[in-house]
Amino acid sequence: MSREIIPFGNLKRHYELHKSEIDEAVSRVLASGWYLFGKELEDFEKRFPGYCGAKYGVGVASGTEAIQIALGACGVGRGDEVLTVSNTCVPTITGIEAAGAKPIFVDIDPATYTMNPFLVEERINERCKAIVVVHLYGQCTDMEPILSIARKYRLKVVEDCAQAHGAEYKGERAGTLGDVAAFSFYPSKNLGALGDAGMVVTNDADVASRAQMLRNYGQKDLYIHLIKGINSRMDEFQAAILNAKLSYLDALNERRREIAKYYIDRLSSLNIVLPLEASGRKHVYHLFVIRVSNRDRFMEEMLNRGVQTAIHYPTPVHLQPAYAEYREQSHYLKVTEEQAGQLVSLPIYPELTDGEVEHVALSVVKVLNTYREE
Ligand SMILES: *Cc1c(COP(=O)(O)O)cnc(C)c1O
Repeated sequence: MSREIIPFGNLKRHYELHKSEIDEAVSRVLASGWYLFGKELEDFEKRFPGYCGAKYGVGVASGTEAIQIALGACGVGRGDEVLTVSNTCVPTITGIEAAGAKPIFVDIDPATYTMNPFLVEERINERCKAIVVVHLYGQCTDMEPILSIARKYRLKVVEDCAQAHGAEYKGERAGTLGDVAAFSFYPSKNLGALGDAGMVVTNDADVASRAQMLRNYGQKDLYIHLIKGINSRMDEFQAAILNAKLSYLDALNERRREIAKYYIDRLSSLNIVLPLEASGRKHVYHLFVIRVSNRDRFMEEMLNRGVQTAIHYPTPVHLQPAYAEYREQSHYLKVTEEQAGQLVSLPIYPELTDGEVEHVALSVVKVLNTYREE
């Protein structure tokens, strides 16, 4: 067994593998003498929505602000309510609240961990203006039934695509499935910058134009402020790095899928719940999340065998201390709460070697076998 720990993520290795293109991108920006709202952002604002199959992209400073600005651009604001999930990364809720709205939580589908379309309608009231679906772990939410409910109640649909660059639903890519989408390029995402960055993606020209104003102090043209906005810019360094890395996204996602397939083949006979790729969907495995019954012990024994694991996410948002006001929504969130104590993520980044992937799988087998022998 190797003595070195296989870490949960390894951005240093990622950089080393793509060093020449990344260094070239950074030097190009340094030499240009132009660091904000320049040619790199202009290129990336064409190329990334083009990759998704959408018309417009508005570069912003983070995924959180992409959610805030996407909602604002759809006209969601103070006093409005937004349906979403509690089994997500807290920033989904940060973005909703920054837009002025209140989150109303819908429970998740137990097999895919994404919003359960059958439970949406009972949560709608007259203050609801939008639904923020989260394509969690790299798999799209079941959009068709959600879009039909949204049409019936005239709700806007925002996709939180922070974990789903390149994921597909019925042949269409994440980012084109609702009215507007929010992407994060946090360094560890499937497409990551080397710092913070995000993007609002849409096919709607009006939404795109409002997003452009909202990210730039509400300016339409220089010193003409039509609405009240914020400062949320993607700088030229991040845009240049993302331009360089976008060319590899499909190959990196394929590598994630290959690792996932290997894990699923090796682990399918064990007494754990593996990720399910629902029919009509292409999972891009931002995370490989399994459910185990004795999680603390599982994680400790994995670490003893040299594998670092992680939890996404240990506490649903409505049970976090900062969000105590939403705790009363608990009785709508049975599956979310039941599963939170069992979730654990295995390492799945593209830079893992075949040997490491094999070692992770073998360690899971051995750890679960020791349980059984006792
Ligand atoms: C990472 C993430 C975000 C936030 O993105 P930042 O760029 O860190 O602001 C939002 N939602 C989900 C589901 C995420 O995974």
